Amino acid sequence: IPSTERGMTKPSITLIGGGLVGALLGTLLARRGYRVDLFEKRTDPRRAGFAGGRSINLALAERGLHALRQADLADEVLEHAVMMRGRMVHPREGASGLQRYGVDDSEVIWSVARGGLNVLLLDAAEAAGVQLHFGQSLASADFDARRIRVIDDHGIHREVEAGVLIGADGAGSALRAAMDAHTPLGLRVEALGHGYKELEIPPAQGDGRARFALEPNALHIWPRGGYMCIALPNTEGSFTVTLFLPAKGAHPSFASLPDAAHAAAFFREDFPDLLPLIPNFAEDYDSHPVGTLSTLYLDRWHLDGRALLIGDAAHAIVPFHGQGMNCGFEDTVALADLLAESGRDTADAFAEFQRIRQPDADAIAQMALENYVEMRDSVADPHYLAKRELGAALAERIPSHYMARYRLVTFTHLPYAYALERGRAQDALLRRLLGESCDAKTVDLAAAEALFKSALPPLAHG
Ligand code: FAD
Repeated sequence: IPSTERGMTKPSITLIGGGLVGALLGTLLARRGYRVDLFEKRTDPRRAGFAGGRSINLALAERGLHALRQADLADEVLEHAVMMRGRMVHPREGASGLQRYGVDDSEVIWSVARGGLNVLLLDAAEAAGVQLHFGQSLASADFDARRIRVIDDHGIHREVEAGVLIGADGAGSALRAAMDAHTPLGLRVEALGHGYKELEIPPAQGDGRARFALEPNALHIWPRGGYMCIALPNTEGSFTVTLFLPAKGAHPSFASLPDAAHAAAFFREDFPDLLPLIPNFAEDYDSHPVGTLSTLYLDRWHLDGRALLIGDAAHAIVPFHGQGMNCGFEDTVALADLLAESGRDTADAFAEFQRIRQPDADAIAQMALENYVEMRDSVADPHYLAKRELGAALAERIPSHYMARYRLVTFTHLPYAYALERGRAQDALLRRLLGESCDAKTVDLAAAEALFKSALPPLAHG
């Protein structure tokens, strides 16, 4: 490891984790001239097939796309993605309706397959010069001696010299555990108390051709108050459905629906339009695990200039804003830019990275929790719908002063912390204007405009 970091020689980097964030970070760093060694626990998914265990598909939004553009990968990723123009809400009774995200297709999100995206990113990392070491799991790290111990698929340990360590090894990060044992990081994990299970809607057959069983260009939601299902489209015509439920202590919960027989009766009651679209319901329900959901907070993301955590390893969040990967991708650009700034050594860059990104990670963690309530509950709530309608009218009338928080998070690069704060201020004004009313038409738009312009500065750009 070069001893002179300051401005002269680039340190070599040892990346732990070749998931979405690690693979993209590796690419960005290698392209900036760093020597990068990446250790990934799993075998090479390009040979062995992708064995994820986490969600099968993900919503990619502007922040993630922006990061992919820095690595010239956005177009390729979008070739394998399905556009989602808005939320298609399926109430228990009555017709479903599409709530568009933006006025046109410039504001859409994209459903991408996790496995395909990971493979594409690993290919890019390799092409950029990253040395990939698959089937090598981090077992321990000696930060003083700058060595790590990895264990392979056969249980064989070996010691490896490590450059500057960066942990992109996800929510259960082994590097984080090693750092915490060396210097406590102030770790706090808040369990949501709800879990998730994935089910599949296969393509429907019609005219001898496969087609989507539901509107393909939408994120589908079946809100039911304390719980919900969502479905995201896959390119080959299927949808991945995710059921979110309390883990236990209530009915329905995963504890009260221990098997497909109980769950099918519940679905017949609560999701009568969805159940017939899942022909392998019993098999999916009984064989797919219940995933747990938590938010992870750390006081410290780095150990001076020796080790840093990024992505889920530093700030895992619940998935209800569809921003975990997007946030992790935004991290990669911020970090690569800081490391590349001349005159900054690694310790400076890591400290600055945490200073800039932690308020944003905290903000998106908060907004993701709030969005669960909104998705499962308020999308069918008349007061929420009135606020939405009034907001939409104001977005058109005074775009300089009003943009829905969801759009600030999903379609801009403004810091998450700004979106959280601005969203709160806007929401307070909308509530003040509506009072008890659930009818946006009762609000005088000229007065609303005057109130927003006097109470809030124009929106920031970015
Ligand atoms: P991971 O993707 O977890 O990757 C970590 C990598 O490290 C893995 O490859 C793992 O094998 C490897 N690893 C682990 N331990 C070791 C070790 N000891 N040694 C070496 N390697 C190791 N985000 C969105 O933006 N949009 C969405 O729609 C969305 N939906 C989601 C739905 C669900 C149900 C869940 C659970 C999450 C969702 N997310 C979404 C969040 C997203 O999945 C994560 O934020 C993202 O995967 C984080 O990437 P990462 O690379 O930091 O971690």
